[in-house]
Amino acid sequence: MANQNNILISPVEYLKGVGSKRAELLRSELGIRYFKDLLYYYPFRYTDRTQFIKIKDILADGIYVQVRGILSDKEIVSGRNKKSRLEATLKDESGYIDLLWFQGVKWLDSSLKDGEEYIVYGKVSISYGKKSIVHPEIEMVSVDSLNRNVVLSPVYSSTEKLSKSGLSSRAISKLTYNLLLVLKDLVIEETLPDYLIGKLKLISRKRALFYIHFPKNNIQLKQAENRLKFEELFFLQLRLLFSKISRKRKLKGHLFPELGEYFNGFYEKNLPFELTGAQKRVIKEIRFDLKSGLHMNRLLQGDVGSGKTIVALMVILMALDNDFQACIMAPTEILAQQHFVSIEKLVAGLGINIAFLSGSVKGRKRKSILNSLYEGNINILIGTHALIEDWVKFKNIGIVVIDEQHRFGVKQRAKLWNKGNEIPPHVLVMTATPIPRTLSMTLYGDLDVSVIDELPPGRKDIKTMHFYENRRPGLVKFIKQEIEKGRQIYVVYPLIEESEKLDLKNLQDGYENLLHQFPRPEYQMSIVHGKMKPADKEFEMQRFKSGKTHILVGTTVIEVGVDVPNASVMIIENAERFGLSQLHQLRGRVGRGAEQSYCILMSSFKLSKEAKERLSTMVRTNNGFEIAEVDMRLRGPGDIEGLRQSGLLDLQLANIVQDENILRAARVNCKNILEEDPVLQLGKNIRLRNYILKNKHKFLSWGRIS
Ligand code: ADP
Ligand code: MG
Repeated sequence: MANQNNILISPVEYLKGVGSKRAELLRSELGIRYFKDLLYYYPFRYTDRTQFIKIKDILADGIYVQVRGILSDKEIVSGRNKKSRLEATLKDESGYIDLLWFQGVKWLDSSLKDGEEYIVYGKVSISYGKKSIVHPEIEMVSVDSLNRNVVLSPVYSSTEKLSKSGLSSRAISKLTYNLLLVLKDLVIEETLPDYLIGKLKLISRKRALFYIHFPKNNIQLKQAENRLKFEELFFLQLRLLFSKISRKRKLKGHLFPELGEYFNGFYEKNLPFELTGAQKRVIKEIRFDLKSGLHMNRLLQGDVGSGKTIVALMVILMALDNDFQACIMAPTEILAQQHFVSIEKLVAGLGINIAFLSGSVKGRKRKSILNSLYEGNINILIGTHALIEDWVKFKNIGIVVIDEQHRFGVKQRAKLWNKGNEIPPHVLVMTATPIPRTLSMTLYGDLDVSVIDELPPGRKDIKTMHFYENRRPGLVKFIKQEIEKGRQIYVVYPLIEESEKLDLKNLQDGYENLLHQFPRPEYQMSIVHGKMKPADKEFEMQRFKSGKTHILVGTTVIEVGVDVPNASVMIIENAERFGLSQLHQLRGRVGRGAEQSYCILMSSFKLSKEAKERLSTMVRTNNGFEIAEVDMRLRGPGDIEGLRQSGLLDLQLANIVQDENILRAARVNCKNILEEDPVLQLGKNIRLRNYILKNKHKFLSWGRIS
């Protein structure tokens, strides 16, 4: 048989029905250059030619329908500001529905014909009993020669420019059909090992590529999707797991075999509370890494307040016991300070030398810190990103702890790796942003992940309520009661760049309103927002922290991780404008002390369906992982922080939320294969080995930089 590789990289121009003009359009509009690009340009939807709804049976507003009927009353109507639109009516035996287009009007007008039969697909709106579809997909019934006996026909996304030049979805499908005719008798290379295909009962790659374009029925479509999604997710996992294994094989790690005076002394004398089961488990997991001689690159996930700091500290003490230094990097000065203060207290009396370093530590003080760091007299350095500057030199850094890792850029983190001499320090990154499990399998597929999934005992669940504006008078009373009990209050306003001016005004108005209701000197208030000078912000935050002010009004600059145990009420204004994970982060600012805490979500009456679901999720649960799952379902994984840059989710067909089962299967099978054959040298894995060799450039060193 002919060599398919040569054919697949033929310029698309040479395909029957294309030619140079269309080739240029396909390239500029869709990025299709070669046969293979067209082959991998999958339909985004299929019309099921057996499934039509009668127009009179369309009862719900906002649903997608496919109807079939005769077109009539087609007319260009010019609206205001010279914009014209195309209107038409589609009639079937049961009724009629209006069709409306605002774009491509001329082109559509010339290509649609009154009196012909069409299939129409789109989202219905019903207003006063009148049914209409704006911008429906429309396709004539009679030209459907290609798929006469086919139930499903592919719909490809096209652009207006392409449609106008005759390259509608229908035309693209004809080209694809021509392409498949060319490929029919050729070999299309298989990418997965035969034994895996057999074991999982997948269809061959060639068959899948044919079925994905022209499935005869839903079974074929499902088979094709299954196969192609599996392949995508499998190779994603292979990239991640293979690089994790090779990193582990290549990279040595410092050995911390001893538990000595620091660790034991702390455990016996200083540990202020019993560790939770989850904390103990995680410490054991890390201890195992540090005794292995391999390099540790571990992500520690734990909801706000789950007690990550003490875990980090105890791991650091393991390093100290083996004569190494350690550092903790936090994303803001205030967080770094907080760590410094609390850790200094925790290790009091153990003879440990701790220093603080940030951009604001200057002159002789800085010089002396840097000197003693280099001499090895400082055991633990805590600070901001100042730590990664080149002039910060350790004598022998053993472990680096990074708090709230998602707030640091990738490059910044990479720099910390290079602080070691020959062997890079172990890395522990901590995050309070829970990541759905499917996502962490992907995003952090090449890191080791530990999870603290248990809160310290005695914490009361934060009571969360959703109020509309009419409850404000009651709210004011409630705040006064809480202040009377000696508690402190946060009031947070949204601030987004696009509406920054308006948002700042809302904040200012809100602040002034509060001043009326909580007059000085009885009540004291702080205000913080991003437009203030850092020093002023710091000053106000400190006033609140030290209890000098009762209420802190601000935008989301109220830092992640800020710990004011006495604050018991978090009021979030315009809560409908916040994302779920942000709401959850903000709520995590309260509930840190022993008192009952409250989170009050204020919103306007008019809420979108999604906003309602966000708010009701917050009211229903305090569990960060559950919230993360809902968040991902609502927004899709692409929007989750850090993902877009990572490029890890450039998936064509698979969706890690909807295809969780396939993802799991891909991961498990990939793991098993690599366990048996870590460098892919067995004959039966030759295709995988080839994949790795061919795709070296795709191997993100994500693990190395996280
Ligand atoms: P986070 O995981 O959000 O960084 P922290 O480490 O700041 O959480 O811990 C939150 C609070 O809980 C701190 O005041 C800490 O002292 C306390 N804490 C941590 N672990 C325990 C425990 N096992 N029992 C009781 N309190 C704990
Ligand atoms: Mg923390």
